[in-house]
Amino acid sequence: MKLPPIEELDYFTRRTLVNDNGEKTGMVIIYRRKGEEKFHYFLLCPYCGKEQKGEAVFKRRPYRIECKECGKKIIVERLYKKNKKKK
Ligand SMILES: [Zn+2]
Repeated sequence: MKLPPIEELDYFTRRTLVNDNGEKTGMVIIYRRKGEEKFHYFLLCPYCGKEQKGEAVFKRRPYRIECKECGKKIIVERLYKKNKKKK
């Protein structure tokens, strides 16, 4: 996918997504241009493997994206919120 130049964005995130078995089978990119209310996203659904993109207005965190193919909800949690676990 083509992204706008980073200096035109005021939000950008890229996350690896796991399915119900904890396998990293998906990912999501979310970005928003400066001055816009709408977010754009690209999703590779970890549950059904379908790629899709769309636009959404997220009002509250955590951001949620519903897969258009399988209907599963993808929750994009705030970074650094999770407890740090030593590996
Ligand atoms: Zn899906």
